[in-house]
Amino acid sequence: MISDNIAEVKDRVAAACLRAGRDPKEVTLIAVSKTKPVEALREAYQAGIREFGENKVQEIQEKSPLMPKETRFHMIGHLQRNKVRQVIDKAVLIHSVDSVRLAEQIEAEAARQDLDVDILLEINVAGEDSKYGFSLAEAEAALRKISHFKRVHIQGLMTIAPFVENPGENRDIFKKLSKFYVDMSHKNIDNVNMSVLSMGMTGDYEVAVEEGATMIRVGTGIFGIR
Ligand SMILES: *Cc1c(COP(=O)(O)O)cnc(C)c1O
Repeated sequence: MISDNIAEVKDRVAAACLRAGRDPKEVTLIAVSKTKPVEALREAYQAGIREFGENKVQEIQEKSPLMPKETRFHMIGHLQRNKVRQVIDKAVLIHSVDSVRLAEQIEAEAARQDLDVDILLEINVAGEDSKYGFSLAEAEAALRKISHFKRVHIQGLMTIAPFVENPGENRDIFKKLSKFYVDMSHKNIDNVNMSVLSMGMTGDYEVAVEEGATMIRVGTGIFGIR
């Protein structure tokens, strides 16, 4: 079941890449396993998945010791500053850095634990009140500030697009973020590596891939409804 779903997602990613003239190897599938038991993660692992997305620090803490060593956990949910300490040594990438204050906290904890931490800046492209993230207007200033940190390394950008009936409605959101991503990469800012564009979920990942996503975060489409 889970393996069939993974195969279907991969087929759809390949088809979207073909339409866009992209190489499917450029797109990393993150299986979003939040709320799912470790048995489900193991099933996905058996089917070849190595990257898992969780939105709660506690779930990463609970599941990571129970998974094979090659498993990589991505923190994709809103991160409270008082939880930074517990997650920076367990997540390979924090997708959800939504304030300079949070980045400062990560910097301080990373220094304490003698770690380097890879992050993405979360951008609220649509400007939804219900969502975290920098607006596109403030993102460059934030990125430049965080680029001066020693332990925190920006690897790219992430967005959660609005919930829509027709995924095509999010194409403009993805296009805007993709354009900003390319603009920032051309600025060659020290300690800013624009190599990850994390966008697209179960409802809209094909459109996101067509618009340049390098990581997609798929939960329901792999593990079923939560
Ligand atoms: C839950 C979640 C996803 C996956 O959502 P699905 O619609 O189930 O694929 C992706 N990204 C984030 C940030 C999430 O919280």
